[in-house]
Amino acid sequence: MKLLVSNVGSTSLKFKLYDMPEERVLCAAKVERVGSREAIYSWDNLLTGGSHRAEGQDVPGYTEGIRLFLEDMSAVARVDEIAAVGFKTVLARGFYGVHELTDEVLEAMRAYLVVAPAHNGPYLEAIGRFRELMPAARLVGVFETAFHRTIPPERALYGVPYEWYEDYGVKRMGYHGASHSYVAETLAALFGSSGRTVSCHLGGSCSLCAIDGGKSVDTSFGFSLQTGVMHANRTGDLDPYVLPYLLHMGLSLEEILDGLAKRGGLLGVSGVSNDLRKVQEAAAAGSARAKLAVDMFVNQIVKYAGAFAAELGGLDNLVFTGGIGENSAEVRERVCAGLAVFGTELDSAANAAGPSGARVISTDASRVRVLVIPANEELGVARRSYELIGG
Ligand code: ADP
Repeated sequence: MKLLVSNVGSTSLKFKLYDMPEERVLCAAKVERVGSREAIYSWDNLLTGGSHRAEGQDVPGYTEGIRLFLEDMSAVARVDEIAAVGFKTVLARGFYGVHELTDEVLEAMRAYLVVAPAHNGPYLEAIGRFRELMPAARLVGVFETAFHRTIPPERALYGVPYEWYEDYGVKRMGYHGASHSYVAETLAALFGSSGRTVSCHLGGSCSLCAIDGGKSVDTSFGFSLQTGVMHANRTGDLDPYVLPYLLHMGLSLEEILDGLAKRGGLLGVSGVSNDLRKVQEAAAAGSARAKLAVDMFVNQIVKYAGAFAAELGGLDNLVFTGGIGENSAEVRERVCAGLAVFGTELDSAANAAGPSGARVISTDASRVRVLVIPANEELGVARRSYELIGG
């Protein structure tokens, strides 16, 4: 069965076509700078090994981006052969698992536009375009909250008036479900069990997840994607009373929300960039704010990982994934040094080695197995979509 997975960003579209249940990738493509005449399109045919890349493409919207892909895909599969399209959807009111994207589910995503504007907006728009262009395919949303449904109430609820939870659903939702569940599945495949694990997804968005026996039991993301450790542009945890205080000081709500979501995190503190590599370079060149941003980032990861290790009653695995987790030996080294109390001991040569597949980077003597597991969120989405459509 042919199953397409599409990852939608505000200005990007990614595609991966799978043959299921073999999990064989047939082709993949990416459109960057959607919404411009300067779009970059790249295509890989995994069957023939052929690939091409074109810059300066006129891609005013998602429709044109999807069309670019469908044209190339015709060499691999007919559009009406695609049984389903799976999306790594983020959040819908009342729908937290894996769901067919009916009008009702799309309405529920619209209801939470205010909680996840940067994610639900693009997905709603793109899903509409997929509906028009691929009418025969079933559209499946693998909600990022799905994996976290197993978090017990004493960790999921906030200390707010209880009716806020009952009437408005205010509670910890958790995100990055496709990534953390893939980590749990990979550990189980490699070692027979995922044990007590802290999974650190560190990229443009960052979250930690406590996993016990394959299930999420806590996570650093909260009701929105705004909380937890600091992100590339988003603040991470923040005292809610900063908001009324800044309103009182004369900032508008729009200005505050813009600061929280776009001008905070690594960018906000460093004043240099939202890309950790550039922040690290600036820190090495003497920027005190860049150094502070990296120090804060590492400290927040250590703090959450330590809290989760306590909740788990010990730690068997510490996993790094995502663009930063997979590529920054420095962050891994500093986080492991901060967690030495739990018995993390890195093999410095293995930690420094360049990116490859899933690998152990701790010494044989380490009481905690430390690993790098490259993120494969698309495969998580493909598996869950396949299960839902009855494959
Ligand atoms: P997203 O969460 O947007 O999908 P990724 O998971 O691809 O992003 O992570 C992207 C981030 O990874 C970049 O912004 C950059 O900060 C970081 N990154 C990539 N390579 C390195 C590296 N060698 N050292 C430090 N950070 C890196």
